[in-house]
Amino acid sequence: MDALASHKQLDGTTDRGAAELAPDCAGLSFYALDRGLRDLLPLYLGDRDFRALEPHFDRLGALAGGRLDELARIADRHPPVLNPRDRFGRDEDWIDYHAAYREMEAIAFGDFQFHAMSHRAGTLGMDHPLPAVAKYTLQYLFVQAEFGLMCPISVTDTSIHLIRKFASKELQDYLLPKMLSGDVATLWKGTQFMTERTGGSDVGAIETAARHEDGEWRLYGDKWFCSHADADVALLLARPEGAASGTKGLALFALPRRLKNGRRNAYRIVRLKDKLGTRSMASGEISLNGAVAYLVGDIDAGLKQMMEQVNLSRLSHGVRAAAMMRRCLNEAMVCARRRKAFGQTICEFPLLRRQLLKIALPVEQSLSMFLFSAHAMDRANAGEADAALRLRILTPLLKFRACRDNITAATGAMEVRGGNGYIEEWVNPRLVRDAHIGVLWEGTSNINALDIITRAVGKSRAHRQLAATLEKLLDEATAIPAGFRNRLRDKLKAAIKFAERIAAEPALEADARQAASGLYHATSAALMAWEASRPGNDARRALLARLVLEHRLSKQDPLAPSGNWEGEAAELILAERKIALAEVNGLLR
Ligand SMILES: Cc1cc2nc3c(=O)[nH]c(=O)nc-3n(C[C@H](O)[C@H](O)[C@H](O)COP(=O)(O)OP(=O)(O)OC[C@H]3O[C@@H](n4cnc5c(N)ncnc54)[C@H](O)[C@@H]3O)c2cc1C
Repeated sequence: MDALASHKQLDGTTDRGAAELAPDCAGLSFYALDRGLRDLLPLYLGDRDFRALEPHFDRLGALAGGRLDELARIADRHPPVLNPRDRFGRDEDWIDYHAAYREMEAIAFGDFQFHAMSHRAGTLGMDHPLPAVAKYTLQYLFVQAEFGLMCPISVTDTSIHLIRKFASKELQDYLLPKMLSGDVATLWKGTQFMTERTGGSDVGAIETAARHEDGEWRLYGDKWFCSHADADVALLLARPEGAASGTKGLALFALPRRLKNGRRNAYRIVRLKDKLGTRSMASGEISLNGAVAYLVGDIDAGLKQMMEQVNLSRLSHGVRAAAMMRRCLNEAMVCARRRKAFGQTICEFPLLRRQLLKIALPVEQSLSMFLFSAHAMDRANAGEADAALRLRILTPLLKFRACRDNITAATGAMEVRGGNGYIEEWVNPRLVRDAHIGVLWEGTSNINALDIITRAVGKSRAHRQLAATLEKLLDEATAIPAGFRNRLRDKLKAAIKFAERIAAEPALEADARQAASGLYHATSAALMAWEASRPGNDARRALLARLVLEHRLSKQDPLAPSGNWEGEAAELILAERKIALAEVNGLLR
């Protein structure tokens, strides 16, 4: 920033100070900036892992605000290019990527080894696989700079999970050493292709056929949306000949790009999609022309097995939305604190402060929600059935709400930057473009809301476990005024009751999104109050909990002023220092 401030013009005069006229986050550490994250990590990760991993969070935070951000900007401007044939006319289709994308891959797959970190020891110097809280925190920091590449990173990670859990020993021995490698040159990356022209939501409509020919499975058909189109191994669903129609007849297959003899497998990347966002990453269409594939797991349980990957991806998408929203907030805050208008920094204007709060609220909600979800995953992996049930509902809740909130946060941050926010030299247009994919892939908002209400609530009754855990946390939060905690409890109960009603009455299906939002907001408010009550934590999270109560879970009179408390709350929430509980208790009503 100082370098920018003293920039010399060609005529020898000194620029008035780019940092003041047009401030941005270049060169800042996204870890150091993130007080909420730094406070919460010891709580969710535990002291030992936090101490061991903090240098890596710090390093990635600096990279995300520095080199990675520069690379991401270049890669977004130079999308991948498909070469359908080689110069001899052979169907050796391949994709060219810009050097900036390749450098990001080296950071992700070589340096940090995101794909392998929760499957084996030895990444980031750890003697055990990383807990989910650490993995998703690293994803969160990375995505604040680069979103597109997180798709290949995450699908490689989730493909490894499926192979480890369901594949035969022989298939594991063949694939896992390649997929878990930290050597970028020889690593086999994974992906997941389900969607066909017949539909993405309606998976049962899949038409790709699997035929058992000469002792091996061969696939015939088309996949319509294939992100990370040139991955080395794609997990996909296909219908074995003679199998039932609908989802029951689908089997899971692993499709290698190259055969054991080194030749290209019999499928083609037909073309790449010209996308609104995630432009650095290649999404394409593929046609399967008798491609060899390996059956994974139980032939009758294809979708059930694939749903494990979908759920892991959904959690990652929630984290990615949290990350992009944080980047929006970082940019908006830096801008608001330095940009001047009418002789004042714009942050001093009440209307602008309100805008900043509107961005900050979903950002902090999603932070608490993803850390709490990742913590549930760690407990579930340790064998706790209650935690697995909690995770069942937290995953689609986070995916559904954070991805939707990301769209308004991105637009809000663009507006805070003013006209520059609309110009592609700044990060905002990319954040706006990238934000929209979250409500489409791995299930649209409707599909996630239905998963929450009809399955997680209606069938698994997972909401009851979630509510019981939150009640316990509220009991623990004795530092928070009792009256405020009771309000949180009442809203939680109301949200649970509403969700149960919508789940029980099919005629009310159109309210599924509203019920899902209610659960998300009540959960995040209870969590933030509990977090604020923990010793040493920042009390502004309790104020955010009150904002959730007032603005997301209560009726507002559109023709009445919002009340003085919000102005006071805004001062504290936007302050650049740690806030003590004593300062906020009077505002927790
Ligand atoms: C850039 C990009 C990359 C992608 N990458 C991949 C990939 O790598 N692998 C992969 O498998 N897929 C991928 N997808 C596909 C994505 O998952 C699907 O687009 C998505 O699941 C929606 O499916 P669809 O496009 O067929 O829409 P449809 O399923 O036809 O949905 C159309 C609309 O109908 C609504 N709808 C459908 N059913 C219901 C219902 N029961 N109740 C209420 N509303 C309903 C949906 O919410 C949506 O608004 C990608 C998509 C994009 C845009």
